[in-house]
Amino acid sequence: MARPAHRTTRRQLLKNSLGLAAISTVPLGFGWGRFGQRAGAPTGPTSPFAVVLGTSQDGGVPQANCFTGYCARVRTGEVAAPRVACLGIVDPATGARFLVDATPDFVAQVGDLVSWPQQGGQPSLPTGTLRLEEEVQGVLLTHAHMGHYTGLLHCGREAAATDNLPVYASAAMARLLRSNQPFKTLIDEDRLDLREISIGAPIELTPDLSVVPFSVVHRAELTDTLGLLINGPSRSLLYVPDADRWDGWPVPFEDWLDKSDIAVLDGTFYSAEELGHRWQGEVPHPPVADTVEMLSARARARPEVWFTHLNHTNPLWDENSSQRAAVQDAGFGVAQRGQTWEL
Ligand SMILES: [Zn+2]
Ligand SMILES: [Zn+2]
Repeated sequence: MARPAHRTTRRQLLKNSLGLAAISTVPLGFGWGRFGQRAGAPTGPTSPFAVVLGTSQDGGVPQANCFTGYCARVRTGEVAAPRVACLGIVDPATGARFLVDATPDFVAQVGDLVSWPQQGGQPSLPTGTLRLEEEVQGVLLTHAHMGHYTGLLHCGREAAATDNLPVYASAAMARLLRSNQPFKTLIDEDRLDLREISIGAPIELTPDLSVVPFSVVHRAELTDTLGLLINGPSRSLLYVPDADRWDGWPVPFEDWLDKSDIAVLDGTFYSAEELGHRWQGEVPHPPVADTVEMLSARARARPEVWFTHLNHTNPLWDENSSQRAAVQDAGFGVAQRGQTWEL
């Protein structure tokens, strides 16, 4: 089955305008979805969409102590450095843009996000100095591990000096930010406008976009962890970049899958052996191979599934790996920076 030519065109447009590394082949039938059908239009997307701004685990690639494997390939410049897992949400009708998580790559990821014109159109980098709170209407935080909130530091007076940039966080996450430096100062100085959100209570981002936060089972040394169901006028996207396992959730994972058309899920490790048993037990994640097997055996229809939050050791980074082929052959995908889904 031949891939429609407009898909290539759209990818090329993205690569040209954002300077993206090569976007690899994704399984046919999803990914660019209905976007692809309108890619010939010069105006770009006009309805809400989500865009992938990063796909690595918290420590990025390379990690500070790693000089082998994919880390070495990034260090030598053979492949582009991935960015930490992050999602953008854009509603061209209202001009609203949102970030899910403030990662150590916050600066670059804000650049990608604001490249999407507020009133629709193809992405291109803005010029001049911007007021960040006018360009980004909010940051939704999932939890307090280093890859998910430390980017907020760029909102301080040493850097972007934002004025009440809205930050949505659980009660536990809000408490941590309010009571610990250097985040406390950002709130005391009104750099951030902290908005507490409740589990299960929809947040209306725009008239066409809402988000339902829910509890995910994940190491809770500092805070709880949220997953998000992002509802647009056409489709719903489930975002769970970080989880210990798929069972034992307060509201079952299966129920959230039933509500979603697209699921972007924790793909930290490909297999249980990746770090060695001792180490991996300290940082539990559901291995991709197990998730693929579990969801392939699912009796009910499943949403299209994409993996993100890949550890630096994950063989899925290598587009030519047998593991990557196995995932794609089973009908699953590895999320790519710049990839979009209409919502
Ligand atoms: Zn993480
Ligand atoms: Zn985490």
